[in-house]
Amino acid sequence: MSGGAQPLPGTGALAVATRRLRRHPAALAGLALLALVLLPVLAAPLLSLPDPALTDPARRMLPPLAIGHLLGTDHLGRDLLARLLWGARTSIAVGALATLTAAAVGSVLGLAAAWGGRRLDGLLMRGVDVLMAFPYLLLALAIVAALGPGLANAMLAIAVANVPFFARAVRGTVLDIRHCDYIAAARLAGHGEPRIVLREVLPNLAPTLLLLMTTTLGWMVLETAGLSFLGLGAQPPAADLGSMLGEGREFLTTYPLVAVLPGLLILLLVVSINLLGDGLRDVLDPRWSPRRSFSAPAPADARLQSQLEGGASLLAVQDLGVRFAGAAGPVPAVAGVSFRLNAGECVAVVGESGCGKTLTALSLLGLLPEGASQVGSVRLAGRELMALDGAALRDLRGRRIAYVPQEPLTALDPLFRVGVQMDETLRAHGAGPAYTAAELIRMVGLDGVPGLMRRYPHEFSGGQRQRVAIALALAHGPDLLIADEATTALDVTVQREILALLRRLCDEQARALLFVSHDLALVAELCERVLVMYAGRIVEDAPAAALLHRPAHPYSAALLGATPELGRPDKPLAVLAGEPPAPGERVDGCRFAPRCPRAQRECRAVEPALDALGEHRLVRCLFPIQEAS
Ligand code: SF4
Repeated sequence: MSGGAQPLPGTGALAVATRRLRRHPAALAGLALLALVLLPVLAAPLLSLPDPALTDPARRMLPPLAIGHLLGTDHLGRDLLARLLWGARTSIAVGALATLTAAAVGSVLGLAAAWGGRRLDGLLMRGVDVLMAFPYLLLALAIVAALGPGLANAMLAIAVANVPFFARAVRGTVLDIRHCDYIAAARLAGHGEPRIVLREVLPNLAPTLLLLMTTTLGWMVLETAGLSFLGLGAQPPAADLGSMLGEGREFLTTYPLVAVLPGLLILLLVVSINLLGDGLRDVLDPRWSPRRSFSAPAPADARLQSQLEGGASLLAVQDLGVRFAGAAGPVPAVAGVSFRLNAGECVAVVGESGCGKTLTALSLLGLLPEGASQVGSVRLAGRELMALDGAALRDLRGRRIAYVPQEPLTALDPLFRVGVQMDETLRAHGAGPAYTAAELIRMVGLDGVPGLMRRYPHEFSGGQRQRVAIALALAHGPDLLIADEATTALDVTVQREILALLRRLCDEQARALLFVSHDLALVAELCERVLVMYAGRIVEDAPAAALLHRPAHPYSAALLGATPELGRPDKPLAVLAGEPPAPGERVDGCRFAPRCPRAQRECRAVEPALDALGEHRLVRCLFPIQEAS
């Protein structure tokens, strides 16, 4: 089927998942613990237990193993075991109902935002932002205060407070699905939007939603208990674990069992659900597995293979676009950029000035110039970055994705010694840095420089400054390093040293590197793969060696022709006549056609797509240079 949905796990996938689950000790422990708690709780109606609400002042505070009361009685003479089992049933039911409600409402909002166009997206997400601006527990408290205490209102409050979480997560996933080829294929096959959502989107959304719900259920149970503990949930004579804990706290010093038992049961429930949820997430979605995402680098060929086969990638960019607000509507500066980057892989983005490579790099960090906006999907280790708010993105920058600037003299503060700047960087992000200052200095090969920490930036050479900038970028052990023309301002010898350093960091520490440059020959030495950009689009995506020796796109060939080669002073440098089209400028057909020596009539009729040429190469050209295949 042209636009078929990805199959839900079938029996084969189920067998694989079961095998993985058996090898996941934390998930197994969670499952065992949950079974231990759930079995008696579910069996409560079948057990001959006393009425949990029946008081008997004559038999109050009986110790465990008293006749007729296995765990004793509470301060009103009620059977503790019966109250615990029935209370746990209530806590679990309310938590599960709140999870289902939040998931259902959040999914509808997230789906509508991702599918309903920019205006609806903006409207819904601003609403979600407003809800997220309140700490969720405060929001839940405010809702219960407005509606009045009671279990139904507590459930409603918890569900409402968690809707934004589901809405954002579902929106991110649907945006990702929306740009998949099978959605385009379903449209081409003539299917309407409702059918595409029902048949293509929802089945693909289901596994993610299931994972979100299992990882959230534990928190919902805890939040329900929290509201009941404060007297806002279950009201007497009904009881749940939170209200039992609240009643028992008065007797903590005289008869602690009344508070300790419900507290212990809440702890067991939440820990077991969370362990199982985390385990299921690892088992069902391998992208979340740290072992897989951040493993040591595989050989270059294997990495390329896994990428081309669509395996789990550290960075997955899908249909990324950057637009500027213009008088006549949005002006696209970057459009339809899609690529993947694996841990330990070095990928270059090359092109002339103004082709959109720096905009592409900055948009990965959510750093865009004033008036610019971005569309598409950017996923880092499975996490959708486009769905993150400013605070979450700030937390990510420097910690998971770091940036090495073109000119460190302007990036380093000239008024502060390098030691002070390094100290500030190391103390950023609250949690401890991945390395000490001494380790960073050794890593970038500056350990032989006397008095380094006491020097000001202008007291270093260009190469040393760039090493300092790289050391600062590495401070929190980022998974992805973006180097934007990081060697352009350096002389040739120092360029080579910095390239060797970046390559070593990638190989030894499995860091991914996105290297932005205008120099095709230079990046071919450093990177395994090169993305060539022209006028805001990727026009060729190929292994570096293949691109260097057999470019397929006429623009890649022109870039190579204009690159001087060491040892070939006689090589004539070709000049590419003309200018690339300005962003938003209308060009019929291929945007390179006005400058292309191979252009034909067909080129001006239709803009070529980025199509596969051979096994490992993608080219946006109707008449690629044939020897390349
Ligand atoms: S599609 Fe035509 S104009 Fe565009 S690059 Fe290919 S040959 Fe040149």
